[in-house]
Amino acid sequence: MFKKIMSHLFWVYAPLNEEPSVIKKILKVFEAVVTFILIVWTLIFILLLPAWFSEKHIINNHVIYSNNNVNSELLQNVLNIAKEKMKKSAVDMPKSLPTIYLYKNDTFFNVSLLNFFSNTTTYDPFYNRIHIKLNDLYANEVLNQDWLSTLITHETTHRLLVERYGILTYTFFMPNWTREGYAEYVSHNHAPPDKDYKEWLTIVRAGKNINQSFESWILVRHAIDEMGYSVDALHNGDVDRETVEQSLLNWVEKRIKNGVN
Ligand SMILES: [Zn+2]
Repeated sequence: MFKKIMSHLFWVYAPLNEEPSVIKKILKVFEAVVTFILIVWTLIFILLLPAWFSEKHIINNHVIYSNNNVNSELLQNVLNIAKEKMKKSAVDMPKSLPTIYLYKNDTFFNVSLLNFFSNTTTYDPFYNRIHIKLNDLYANEVLNQDWLSTLITHETTHRLLVERYGILTYTFFMPNWTREGYAEYVSHNHAPPDKDYKEWLTIVRAGKNINQSFESWILVRHAIDEMGYSVDALHNGDVDRETVEQSLLNWVEKRIKNGVN
């Protein structure tokens, strides 16, 4: 009876009449457990996710889920700033805006394995969702609106790239430095201060590791603003990272030589 149930349960993995070895049996149980966890996690995460949140706001065509009385006017303000920032991108707003989930409860953010992708915020290209851990954005009970708008702009820019180049290219073939760097470039509507370039130069010269997000940002900014590359050339992989790095090195050294502080 037990064998019959087991072989029925694991029909995906084994024909009914096969007599599996102990190792094979263990492997099958392991596979089944992993499959079960993945299915349950996917169901909870994909289908039941909106139910976790007590509030649903619809602002500027964005759907936003949140908990604990997130102020609508405040969100409106944040999304207006984000929309202004998006104007810097080559193609304005994406056709289908991502749904935004604001996690005030860090536990759920962590349990849902989102922190596997990022500590604070992440974009899911397959379900077009932005996940933001809200707790990190509060200082003395006050929500940092500028930071939140920057995060939303960054993640919405990822959506733009998905729409423009397709989800497969975005996920598997786009260089990471252009994908992240461009999202940083659009969401920070200013150039980094010279002291940041100087610091970057010092770290690069010393051969140390640098914050990847920052480096991607300054490389993309340099490629577009100083070297004149188009956004498409950047994301199609036509732009060689080392060429941009070398050009940026020369550019920063020249600025320092010319007495920029
Ligand atoms: Zn990103």
